[in-house]
Amino acid sequence: DASLSIRELAHANDVNGMVLTHSLQLAVSVDKDTPVREFGISASQLRDALVHLKEEGAASWSFLKYWMWPPLMLFALWWLWRGGIPAGGDGKKRKGWFPKRTYLASQLAVVVLFGFALGKAPNPMEGLVKVFKGTVGIYSDTPEKLLLLGYFSLLAIVGNKLICGWGCPFGALEELLYEFPALKKLKRKQLPFRMTMSIRTLLFVVFVLVVFGWVGGIEGMVIYHYVNPFNLFGFELALWTVALSVVAFLALSLVIYRPFCQLICPFGWYSWWLEKISLFGIRIHRGRCNDCGACAQVCPLEAAAGRLAGQALPADCFSCARCLRACPEDALAYGPRWRKP
Ligand code: SF4
Ligand code: SF4
Repeated sequence: DASLSIRELAHANDVNGMVLTHSLQLAVSVDKDTPVREFGISASQLRDALVHLKEEGAASWSFLKYWMWPPLMLFALWWLWRGGIPAGGDGKKRKGWFPKRTYLASQLAVVVLFGFALGKAPNPMEGLVKVFKGTVGIYSDTPEKLLLLGYFSLLAIVGNKLICGWGCPFGALEELLYEFPALKKLKRKQLPFRMTMSIRTLLFVVFVLVVFGWVGGIEGMVIYHYVNPFNLFGFELALWTVALSVVAFLALSLVIYRPFCQLICPFGWYSWWLEKISLFGIRIHRGRCNDCGACAQVCPLEAAAGRLAGQALPADCFSCARCLRACPEDALAYGPRWRKP
């Protein structure tokens, strides 16, 4: 009933008043005792917002993801470090190491379990965005949100961008589409890292300006909500910009490696910084490397080329193992960064 105020509605529906205010796209500072229809909210808008909040709250099984991610990351670490190499593995038969089907099977499982089965939340992108929303007062449990961001950060640090490369349902869906055996010539093109990083950085700056209300005047407004592809896993595609984004990112994934991760995702941007302190990752044995460039050719980003050139800040590396499989000289290995390969 749109004649009720935020306070009354929150009480009657057992939802947080700030969250409801945000869900109705109102400024957090609005008077909570004024009937919502006086803010131009119609009964159907109110119903949609409440249904959405109820669904979020009802996604009670989604917490299971927090317990499922760590073993998945441990499996990925083990596989990249040792498990993908057959016992007594002969470097000359390296093409059979780190079998692609294992990686793709795990990605498929991530899409099904972490995405469609357990819903859109939690996810790494949301983990970052909610800290900012908490800071402007949308949530009352900002310390908890910070803890969750710490959790996702840890899963990105333990192995180079591991949560993105192995555990994110939308990233996994993009990965699977990129592997679809079509338009192979187009797939060879890598997006220039300078361009992708500039776009992501610019969007992040705009996000910060908007979420704090410095631009647009509505505190807590999140620009990423309008292009949030994780909505696909909750079948929340009523907003046309979201539906269009999902279709566009999925179509682009057929020819561009992880377009959402490279161009938009704030967690992808943030985890690029975390790569610099990651514990495990790809290391290059300079004594064995003959500069053939095989790794740079198979890498879908400029990461392997940057590493080969000795760049201090190469492009994102999603720990996908393509380069590990391709190196003919056994000069690449996944392992602890603090030890020489
Ligand atoms: S960068 Fe990609 S993989 Fe990482 S959280 Fe964002 S969507 Fe997921
Ligand atoms: S192929 Fe590129 S993205 Fe994949 S693990 Fe190697 S460097 Fe990283």
